[in-house]
Amino acid sequence: MGRLNDKVAVVTGGSRGIGAAIARRYGAEGARVAVVYKAAADAADEVVADIKAAGSEATAIRCDVAQTAACNAMADAVGAAFGGADILVNNAGIYLLTMPGETSEDEWDNQMNTNVKGAYFAAQALLPQMMARGGGKIINIGSIAGETGIPASAVYCATKGAIKLMTKSLALDLRPHNIQVNSLSPGCVESDMNAGYRAELQEFMDALQGRFGVGNPWMVPDDMAGTAVYLASSDSDTVTGANVMVDNGYSAF
Ligand code: NDP
Repeated sequence: MGRLNDKVAVVTGGSRGIGAAIARRYGAEGARVAVVYKAAADAADEVVADIKAAGSEATAIRCDVAQTAACNAMADAVGAAFGGADILVNNAGIYLLTMPGETSEDEWDNQMNTNVKGAYFAAQALLPQMMARGGGKIINIGSIAGETGIPASAVYCATKGAIKLMTKSLALDLRPHNIQVNSLSPGCVESDMNAGYRAELQEFMDALQGRFGVGNPWMVPDDMAGTAVYLASSDSDTVTGANVMVDNGYSAF
């Protein structure tokens, strides 16, 4: 018996990294999963195939979450495929290293529109389905970058700080509809997102490591999956507006 049997879950950015790990784990817990991606159709298809091979249902849906009309079309596609959604993981995100004085308007807009606006409007698009089903779960993927400054990352940090407060406010608004809204904030997770940045961020990582003292700061995407299941399951029905740090203890400093 899976913890998400009979549930329909939508995972944005489900094609790669943290989203793919969550999508696979949701499938293993019995959910039917919509794997939402922007461009990596082959990767999304692979995640769908893995979920099906493990015995659940899944479908890939192309949607650029930065486009509100695309979020609405995505919700329609989820309705057509599965009859409605119970769980939304707002995981789609981008991270660009940006220095003050050199940041373009596009770099600001792309990060804000994907990480913040996309999360808001993906939720808005799926709300009618959750309300019709008597409740739901929205899990916004935040970041350690919503807790602490990171060099060359002011715009990205702004997006993740916004996620934290948007989560709290939505939690209040959606309480009457039995929809719990929480954020899951990873620390440092090896993924495509930071593969090109690890050398540039090494000095920062070394400083953190020095403070932290023990252990490897880097986690893998699957390290996020268990908490994502908890926040999607009835075990968290009395948890809303929370920000759960899954960061190997970094934010404890
Ligand atoms: P990846 O770069 O590995 O994957 C990003 C995913 O987001 C891909 O599936 C990509 O789709 C999708 N995506 C990007 N832009 C859009 C868009 N406009 N519309 C729809 N989908 C989009 O990232 P991670 O797995 O590392 O990160 C996932 C989330 O976790 C992000 O919100 C990130 O900010 C957050 N996070 C990551 C940390 C880390 O250390 N990796 C730490 C803290 C938070 P496609 O494959 O089609 O391009």
